[in-house]
Amino acid sequence: MPAFEIDFGNPSSTHGHGSAAMDMMDAARAQVASCIGCRARDVVFTSGATEANNMAVSGLDTGGRGILVGATEHSSVLEPARSVKEKSVGYVPVGPDGVTDLDGLERMLDDDVGLVSIMAANSETGVIQPVAEIARIVHECGALFHCDAVQAIGKIPFGMDGLCVDMVTLSSHKIYGPKGCGAIAATREARGMLRPIIHGGGQEEGMRSGTPNVPAIVGFGIACDIAAAEGLADMPKQAALRDMFEEGMERKAGDVIVNGGGAKRLPNTSNIRIRGALADAVMVGARGVEVSTGSACSSSAIEPSHVLTAMGLDRDAAGESIRVSLGRPTKERDIDAAVSGLASASRFVRGKMAGGVAL
Ligand code: PLP
Repeated sequence: MPAFEIDFGNPSSTHGHGSAAMDMMDAARAQVASCIGCRARDVVFTSGATEANNMAVSGLDTGGRGILVGATEHSSVLEPARSVKEKSVGYVPVGPDGVTDLDGLERMLDDDVGLVSIMAANSETGVIQPVAEIARIVHECGALFHCDAVQAIGKIPFGMDGLCVDMVTLSSHKIYGPKGCGAIAATREARGMLRPIIHGGGQEEGMRSGTPNVPAIVGFGIACDIAAAEGLADMPKQAALRDMFEEGMERKAGDVIVNGGGAKRLPNTSNIRIRGALADAVMVGARGVEVSTGSACSSSAIEPSHVLTAMGLDRDAAGESIRVSLGRPTKERDIDAAVSGLASASRFVRGKMAGGVAL
């Protein structure tokens, strides 16, 4: 509230209100840096993770060398990779458990690769990637490593320094901060190669022009402090609730497969396939249960999740998959309600589908 009401100046101005706003931004920068183990000056504030990912993928001057991106990355990595015209792009496969195929990565790496972008943990399945191992393999080949850590922060320990990551993407609202704010953190070497994708007044030391959203940035900084302290401490409780959800679904709906279940996963994410039940129909049937499918609607055709198909699921199996996220406020009674709503909707949908009803 002080950033809205009292120190509402433009941080680029040198007068009193401006420098007070800049002080608040500096404090937030230090909070973000301390949360991920980098120097405050390595942090560039952006409008969110989408912009940060675009910057890493399209803005890095690789000297003409190509880029490799994980097959299960967020669309804010995949889409800019697709649209980069001057660099070759390769897609690093994952195994059936959703974990990066490290041998595959090694085979794809050569002197012609300048950047590898692989996320820390997947937004749809929660599958955690072996980030330190990936960094080692990428660096052995002389490329830089960008990691979208949006889903990992506050849920699993993540230290940019210890993991040897060159660029990290963060999003404020994924850790309960204000929406429309995020950051890219880049080491000195990576920053030397990073070019802005938004040009103008030269804010953020020329890396990201435009008047910064100070209140959101202040909130983001505080959210980072809370994520580092309380978020991680809360995770064993969320993991237990997540397990309770999955066991409950198996007991009450039956024939449930946990996508990525064989891998290390975030404590708060569950992606389940309920065999024989179209996920979109289950979601409609389970009123009041706020879950999603990984699918994206494009021109009225429902596309299967690219994450699940990269893990080897076919269109039908992906269409039977639901993604459930727990949050810090989630209680046991919420899990009971979700299991009961989803299981009864699944039984209903299965019955209709078995009876040949088109859904
Ligand atoms: N990366 C991952 C892994 C995400 O889950 C998301 C959002 O869902 C994004 C990037 C985009 O984040 P933002 O909404 O801050 O642009």
